[in-house]
Amino acid sequence: MSQLNPRQREAVRYISGPLLVLAGAGSGKTSVITRKVAYLVEQCGIEARHIAAVTFTNKASREMKERVGQILQGKSKGLTVSTFHNLGMSIIRREHKKLGLKSGFSLFDDQDSKTLIKDLLLHHDEDSDQVDYVRNMISNWKNEMVSPESAQARAVGPQEILASRAYEAYNRNLRAYNAVDFDDLILVPVQLFEEHPDVLERWQNRIRYLLVDEYQDTNLSQYRLVRQIVGHRGALTVVGDDDQSIYAWRGARPENLEQLQVDFPSLKVVKLEQNYRSTSRILKAANTLIANNPHTFEKTLWSEMGFGDPIRVIHTRNEDAECERIATEILDNHLRKHTPFKDFAILYRGNFQARLLEVKLQAYQVPYKLSGGTSFFARAEIKDLMGYLKVLVNRDDDNAFLRIINLPRREIGPSTLQKLGEYASERDVSLFDACEEVGLEQHLSASAVEKLRRFTRWLHDKYRQCYEGDPIAAIKDLIYDIDYEGWLYQNASSDNVAEKRLQNVWFLVDSLKNTLERLQEDDPDAGIEEAIARLILLDLMDRQEEEDDSNRVQLMTLHASKGLEFSHVFLMGMEEELLPHRNSIENGDIEEERRLAYVGVTRAKRTLTITLARQRKQFGELLDCTPSRFLDELPQEDLEVEGNGEKNPEANKARGRATLNSLRNMFDDL
Ligand code: ATP
Ligand code: MG
Repeated sequence: MSQLNPRQREAVRYISGPLLVLAGAGSGKTSVITRKVAYLVEQCGIEARHIAAVTFTNKASREMKERVGQILQGKSKGLTVSTFHNLGMSIIRREHKKLGLKSGFSLFDDQDSKTLIKDLLLHHDEDSDQVDYVRNMISNWKNEMVSPESAQARAVGPQEILASRAYEAYNRNLRAYNAVDFDDLILVPVQLFEEHPDVLERWQNRIRYLLVDEYQDTNLSQYRLVRQIVGHRGALTVVGDDDQSIYAWRGARPENLEQLQVDFPSLKVVKLEQNYRSTSRILKAANTLIANNPHTFEKTLWSEMGFGDPIRVIHTRNEDAECERIATEILDNHLRKHTPFKDFAILYRGNFQARLLEVKLQAYQVPYKLSGGTSFFARAEIKDLMGYLKVLVNRDDDNAFLRIINLPRREIGPSTLQKLGEYASERDVSLFDACEEVGLEQHLSASAVEKLRRFTRWLHDKYRQCYEGDPIAAIKDLIYDIDYEGWLYQNASSDNVAEKRLQNVWFLVDSLKNTLERLQEDDPDAGIEEAIARLILLDLMDRQEEEDDSNRVQLMTLHASKGLEFSHVFLMGMEEELLPHRNSIENGDIEEERRLAYVGVTRAKRTLTITLARQRKQFGELLDCTPSRFLDELPQEDLEVEGNGEKNPEANKARGRATLNSLRNMFDDL
């Protein structure tokens, strides 16, 4: 407690009602949450298992868990520190019977959802844009708590009407597959609590104090969940910063901050003003930048971390030179000043910007770790194995069933599968169950039926092994049984690739084992299905990197950098149409882009270097770039600008639709 300033102490000690800590970046909001959890346990006698601290990203929740664990030592057993989605998953797991789900239900990832939507749209001219559109609409509706019925009632225009119909069918299919999707993890608990006050009461009893970090990014369904759990008791602490709201595109509602005062009239508000992270110059730059946005809440931020170096702005010839410059700067700093690599972070707007950066860092042998990017679970080999695991724990998951039935080849042809599908939907059973029904014999040849049943018999065998013996051993057996290794070597472009894929498979098995062990520490009854579900939810890639806490430069998107801090930050691609992003310029969402830039600037503790390119190559064509308007919004007296002399006379002329137009799609994998 002595490490906190008086305002922070006040926030930690205040427990007689709901509390909002509203403050700018780096002022110790997350620190307040961490300390408060410890305070509740140590000073207020609330058992750890009755406390839940909720954050947005896996990274943040892991960090918080670690910090609280250090303070509380052995007393943190049973404490919930998790993301909103993880909390939702726990609720659904415990209450699955009430929800009409069987215990091993599947969690659909984005790709699964899209596959299902694609199936549903089959009769319309489906293209991937259409599928993406429907997927986004469904996701938005779920986050906004709009039911399929009201979506249909409200839909205007053919596109929306189509999406709203797909929404209804999509939900029906999810249920039939005994599955939920990502957005359901919040929506379903909220609906459950609305319909079953007794269940809600049980959870209110369990979570007696709730703390929420990054509150400005909650969407409507998350907000409801918070309100339900807290009820009238007001045992709630939330911290947030409206200037760091960067998830509007996922339904985040910074107005939820104001709404709190309406919903909880007794709300106490504490403002923090001292920033403990950045030098005064960095802080001034951040404040000057964000002052260009309108403000509901007035906040001031000051720092005692020294005046600091000027903020460097480096104009480079093209993206190649930009990435090269960053790589050599870091290497130079490392060699001359012995700055550890892990003190550097390189932040960018879209994942695609990392590709060239990786090439350059590799060329200079600068070790780095990339957060985000292609998810571990998007890899084919992982999807294959997960397909097997999903069917093992949930035989209703038709999606997974179809993925694995001919992998490796079982000589079950498309027409057999089509007939099987028709029979299953006629009988309203899963594909798996259909294989075992006697009636199937009238629709398919005896040999086809036998092939299908050989497969399900084998699965039953594995299932038994999994639940009666050691599940991990059973999974290993399964991998040997199907000779997945042989299959990988036959199908990969090279042995190297196959080898890497095989390693990923074993990494997954290992992670399952660790997850299961960890789960069973808290709950000895936790089974393999729970471990599988948790793994899907966790960004495994992230964890893989986390365990490797060696000395590496960190690469991530601005979105992913929220809540984190680094001594030296490079903010790259500070150009119009990149930051602010082209789509946002078109939609007039400059304020959100400015907040994103603000988040980037405020990650830096000691130095901030902003880079930009005069030209970028797109599909073999060189396109001119214009410096970001945000550069003009920084305090010019604190900037040290380099490379701006050789202005390209063409620069401003060629702006127009062609400029970076094609970059637009690449942001999709953000
Ligand atoms: P963000 O808005 O970026 O999420 P935040 O408000 O959550 O930031 P923290 O991450 O909690 O801020 O704190 C920023 C830094 O300041 C951390 O390194 C933290 O350890 C340090 N810090 C917080 N409070 C104090 C304090 N009273 N004395 C010294 N250092 C502090
Ligand atoms: Mg924080």
